[in-house]
Amino acid sequence: MVSEHFDILIIGAGPAGLSFARSLGRLPLKVLILERSSQTTLVEPPEDGREIALTHLSVNLMKESGAWQRLPEDGASPIEGAKVFDGESSYSLDFDRESADLEALGYLVPNHLIRKAFYEVVSSQANIEIRTESVVENVSTDAERGYVTLTSGEVITANLIAAADTRFSEMRRKMGVSATLKDFSRTAIVCRMEHSRSHQQTALECFHYGRTTAVLPMQGKRSSVVITVNSRDAHQYTEMSEEEFNRNIEKQLQGMLGEMTLLGKRHVYPLVAVHANQFVARRFALIGDAAVGMHPVTAHGFNLGLRGQATLAKAIESAITEGRDIGSEEVLKVYESTHMRISRVLYHGTNIVVGLFTHESVAAKLARKVTLRLANNITPVKRLITESLTESELEQPSGLKEMVQRLPGLPLPRFPLRGPIKQAAQVVSKRIPEKMNPLKRIGFL
Ligand SMILES: Cc1cc2nc3c(=O)[nH]c(=O)nc-3n(C[C@H](O)[C@H](O)[C@H](O)COP(=O)(O)OP(=O)(O)OC[C@H]3O[C@@H](n4cnc5c(N)ncnc54)[C@H](O)[C@@H]3O)c2cc1C
Repeated sequence: MVSEHFDILIIGAGPAGLSFARSLGRLPLKVLILERSSQTTLVEPPEDGREIALTHLSVNLMKESGAWQRLPEDGASPIEGAKVFDGESSYSLDFDRESADLEALGYLVPNHLIRKAFYEVVSSQANIEIRTESVVENVSTDAERGYVTLTSGEVITANLIAAADTRFSEMRRKMGVSATLKDFSRTAIVCRMEHSRSHQQTALECFHYGRTTAVLPMQGKRSSVVITVNSRDAHQYTEMSEEEFNRNIEKQLQGMLGEMTLLGKRHVYPLVAVHANQFVARRFALIGDAAVGMHPVTAHGFNLGLRGQATLAKAIESAITEGRDIGSEEVLKVYESTHMRISRVLYHGTNIVVGLFTHESVAAKLARKVTLRLANNITPVKRLITESLTESELEQPSGLKEMVQRLPGLPLPRFPLRGPIKQAAQVVSKRIPEKMNPLKRIGFL
């Protein structure tokens, strides 16, 4: 039996679902969010070890929503520089805020504070209702409306249903939307650590063979540490004593941050990336990780989710202004084509980075060294990477423009790629227009 009807129904009150609700809050719409967890969890989300590196675009979107202003004073930590190391070499690919002409490359904010801030802004909106401890069991749509069935048996309808129910989205499957999953058979172990030396607000990414250690600067002499290893070995890092763990990280960082001390729990995340092959179906849209779940190495996951929900909200706003149906195919397709264009490049680009820095063949090691040096020494390439990571140039990255303009005249040697890295590059390459394709112009393919 149908109990109620809404304009938009959102499944999942994670950061993507909540930020989407907030974007819709200023429109004349009746919105419902259904969330499996309890209200206590939404009001005071537990720490989950994820420290989210936010780009400039995300900070601006959070400011517009009012969520940024709700973060505690010490909630956001600026990332002023970043260094990427390969193997035992002291050579690093360096980025800094001065060369990028920015106040910071990005800002590090704990995931639980982002969730809390968005919950606070959404819960004060009169046209948005949040129902907690509500588990969606089924979803379907027809030409007129979407139907959601809860485990309680209640059926709720809406003109449009948005699923933000994690990268393993059940709703995506129930709506028959296929997705490409990539299981890296690697696991991230994340924790907070205190150290005796200052991090100078600089992030460190150390790609050692078989293991990656990333250190992201928090306030004071504290950092978020992310260790990525083959899943087979992950238990070693969670089971070793705190003392042993501290010494292990000190060694991995070659003493760069001095003495290390674990603060709190070690959290474990098996790494699986997902890209839905469609973002929309009839009266249905996927947002957040349900649309694209990224490997965390390039820190694009939530940034992309925030950007995607803003795109969908904008398409809905235009439909309302023009008197069109908010759940119609033409409205949803605007979101899909815009978001697909951005997400495919980031998704496949990130997977190339993962492949490049995890393969242990001689060719991959050589490719890493060449890549770091190329990226350090070719200004447009470096600017392109900086712009992609910071999202400071929103429409058309100037690094890409400059690089493409200069490529025909560059006397570059050819660096043909091989094996899985070549396959990944070919996938990306197919999606870039021929004349814009830097991979072909440089001679990587
Ligand atoms: C180690 C790590 C580091 C990361 N670092 C970064 C970073 O630096 N930068 C960045 O941008 N991103 C980062 N990310 C990614 C980021 O955390 C995710 O992109 C983001 O949390 C996804 O939010 P979401 O709302 O889509 O999904 P989730 O946070 O997974 O929320 C989904 C919600 O849906 C609810 N739900 C699910 N099924 C149902 C159902 N049937 N009925 C009702 N409710 C349901 C769940 O309870 C949950 O609350 C990182 C991720 C990891 C693992």
